[in-house]
Amino acid sequence: MLHRETVGRVELAFTDREGGVSDGPWSSLNLGTSNGDDPDVVERNLALLADELALDRLVRMTQVHGADVAWTSEVADGEIPVADALLTDQPGVGVLVRVADCTPVVLVGLDEPVAGVVHCGREGLVKGVVMGAVAAIREHGTEALEAWVGPRACGRCYELPEDMADAVGAVVPEARSTTSWGTPAVDIGAGVVAQLHELGIPVTDLGEHECTIEDERFFSYRRQGQDSGRFGAIAVIR
Ligand SMILES: [Zn+2]
Repeated sequence: MLHRETVGRVELAFTDREGGVSDGPWSSLNLGTSNGDDPDVVERNLALLADELALDRLVRMTQVHGADVAWTSEVADGEIPVADALLTDQPGVGVLVRVADCTPVVLVGLDEPVAGVVHCGREGLVKGVVMGAVAAIREHGTEALEAWVGPRACGRCYELPEDMADAVGAVVPEARSTTSWGTPAVDIGAGVVAQLHELGIPVTDLGEHECTIEDERFFSYRRQGQDSGRFGAIAVIR
């Protein structure tokens, strides 16, 4: 576990590669189910995580680089909603976001027990998935929020063709960057932090110096390819 913290009635956690039962490129705490790992082994990893965090239920989502937001109260037992933000106001129900280079975000409401996780990559940043999740929590009645942003591909590694990098920069200027070798790049984490700050939300950036491409403590799609595992972030109301 990279990080675990309790904020009011919400506990949040960011995983790394350690503590699971997967082998090979998925070694060991792979939380992803669409990357070639044995589905039964992944379910064991998810169960280990649910146990460690003493969850009654762990809800995950099928992430599609969109901006849809789902609430666990609307997710049936065993259902896996298609969404990129998963919110909860139900005690004991953990919400999980899974990543390998994209930016994981945890949102915690301070006025009432509400929490959520968000998956934000290049497309999610442009589509405003983090802002959509914040808006949903605020519509729910919680104005004051705090955010935690996790490890992701950094702005010195995440190379893109110039037109794509510029397209991101046109929407979120803070996300336009340059690789350490001088080519066009994006810094999705910096973009997410800028969007959160614009919404008046204090951010704890756990991933500022934690690049998934450079650091083998994390899974990385760009470093490991198609078969890379997924680490994650979880939030649960106690
Ligand atoms: Zn990097």
